[in-house]
Amino acid sequence: MPLELNDIFVTPDSSLEVDECFVYDDLSAEGEQLTVSPVRVRGQVKNSGGLVELSYTAEFDYSKPCDRCLADAKKSVKQDFVHTLALSAENEDTDDIIIVAGYTLDLFSLVRDDILLELPIKHLCSEGCLGLCPKCGQNLNEGSCGCKKEAVDPRMAVLDELMQD
Ligand SMILES: [Zn+2]
Ligand SMILES: [Zn+2]
Repeated sequence: MPLELNDIFVTPDSSLEVDECFVYDDLSAEGEQLTVSPVRVRGQVKNSGGLVELSYTAEFDYSKPCDRCLADAKKSVKQDFVHTLALSAENEDTDDIIIVAGYTLDLFSLVRDDILLELPIKHLCSEGCLGLCPKCGQNLNEGSCGCKKEAVDPRMAVLDELMQD
C-alpha cells in the first residue's frame, strides 16, 4: 500500500488524509505466541512550508502469554507517531527522517516497524500478577495451591533448578 506523495512534496501547504486498516500476519518472533488485531491507521501527511510530516494514530489490540502466569493477556494500544519525510538524505540529520524514494512511501512497512517498537518487552496480565507456583505450577491468580511456602534463598533456587534438569 504505497502512498504517492508527489503532489504533497511539490505543493506547499497541501495535505493528504490517511485512513487505512493493515493486517500483519508475521509480527511475532520465532517461537513467540503473539496475536495482533488489524491495525487502524488514521492521520495525515502535511507539507508545512516545505517541511513534510506524517502524523498518525495507530489503534490495535494484541495478546500474548503473560510473562509470569502464561495466561493469554490482551492489551489495547492507541499510539501517536510523527515522522519527518524527505526525498533524500542530503544535508539532513537522517536519524529521525524517513527517506521517501521516488515520492512513494511504504506506509505498510513503516507502521509495522513503529508498532513493533511500541510492544513492551515485559508483558503481564496485570501488575499484581502472582504467577505460577514454582513447585506445582498452579496459577496463583486462580487460588493458592497448598504448597508449603518457604523463604527461598535465590542461590538455593538456582541449585534446585539444576537438580531438576
Ligand atoms: Zn499473569
Ligand atoms: Zn504449588
